[in-house]
Amino acid sequence: MVDFRNLPSVESVLSSRRIRTATGEYTREWVTNLVREQIDGARGAMRNGSAAPTADEIAASVVYQIELLGRVYPRPLINATGVIIHTNLGRAPLSLDAMDATLQASEGYSNLELDLLEGGRGSRQAHVQPMFRQLTGAEAALVVNNNASAVLLGLSALAAGKEVIVSRGEEVEIGGGFRIPDVLLQSGAKLVEVGTTNRTYASDYEAAITDNTAALLKVHSSNFRIDGFTHFAETRELVEIGERTGIPVLHDVGSGCLLNTADYGLSHEPTPRESIAAGAGLVFFSGDKLLGGPQSGIVVGKRDLVRKLERHPLARAVRIDKMSLAALSATLLHYLKGEAETKIPIWRMISMSAGELEDRAYHWQTVIGNRALVLRGLSTIGGGSLPGETIDTWLLALECDNLSGGAQAVTRRLREYSTPVIARIEENRVILDPRTVFLEEEDTLLRAVREVLEPVA
Ligand SMILES: *Cc1c(COP(=O)(O)O)cnc(C)c1O
Repeated sequence: MVDFRNLPSVESVLSSRRIRTATGEYTREWVTNLVREQIDGARGAMRNGSAAPTADEIAASVVYQIELLGRVYPRPLINATGVIIHTNLGRAPLSLDAMDATLQASEGYSNLELDLLEGGRGSRQAHVQPMFRQLTGAEAALVVNNNASAVLLGLSALAAGKEVIVSRGEEVEIGGGFRIPDVLLQSGAKLVEVGTTNRTYASDYEAAITDNTAALLKVHSSNFRIDGFTHFAETRELVEIGERTGIPVLHDVGSGCLLNTADYGLSHEPTPRESIAAGAGLVFFSGDKLLGGPQSGIVVGKRDLVRKLERHPLARAVRIDKMSLAALSATLLHYLKGEAETKIPIWRMISMSAGELEDRAYHWQTVIGNRALVLRGLSTIGGGSLPGETIDTWLLALECDNLSGGAQAVTRRLREYSTPVIARIEENRVILDPRTVFLEEEDTLLRAVREVLEPVA
């Protein structure tokens, strides 16, 4: 039998000096619950043979918990990975105007759903709708919480209880558990698979059409690429079939790029405008990938179809919040003013010149010293956009061969820095890419690297 009498009591931990000095700002209830959890955890560990912790040890873990939880989440950090749209790091950073818009929309009241001319109830969509019509050429638009919910809403409103035809090569998983077949199932639509993984022809869709077909669905394989012996039907071929049979074509283009990626030395990413021009009934995309705005999902397309989505009960469940809406409209204004490339952070990063990156990498090297090398390398777009696409960059590489713990230990300590720095590892070197580091972050980054390397230098 384990003797639990050695475990400190809740009271003894609460009255310790460490707890009293470090947790004063927080409610006694919260601190007490954290102490109980730690004691319960210790009891479990004792059953597995651990010794009883002292009251001071319990207090130290509670203080650590409070330091972790007692601050605003998510914490800002420095992305030195060179992955521009990094889903784990919050996808697209917002422009100054977009950040300002969220502040304006949230610090007081706003005309979110008030028509200022008439004085009556307005729509929160009224402002962004004409912007998206202009930017994509579509008749109508609807903005929701994210692209996953946009697709779910679209399929639920148009295809519940009916059949939707999808190519086997486009039954993709986007990540985070978003799989096209599962979304179809959830919407109540029946998936009809056509073609093979690598080849699907327009005629395959046509042959699968029945009286119960509600839509032809096309999904952009945004996070992988199939090369070699492949064929996929073009949107306009599906539209031609759809027009003959009265069935709408729905197109999930994923990243919602509003600029031409080919102008930036990247391969061509399908744009909502092209899909609308090809005649798609509805086009779905994200607001926080290559659009460079806040988390949001956008549906553009034919007026009668968009109206069906607006009227569906799910529309209320997935509606966009006012802060995201404000940031989105500020981001769209950059496109309408022709200043997207200079004002939207991800486009500034994508278009950053090799000369600027080289200068920055050499500047970092002078600050960090002889453990650092400047190398040519590659940045990636990331975030389920432009799979496999890279842009040439200049990197700072930290040699870690004779450091204890090697590159793993260095990246861990960079992550644990007061402003965490996220880097990648290649061949036991820690790699820092200036492309995704904001100029204002450079001093902090360089301080972090010096402090992390110092004790072992
Ligand atoms: C990213 C992506 C989604 C999901 O978009 P979220 O905005 O993350 O919900 C859906 N479909 C495709 C093709 C995507 O690339």
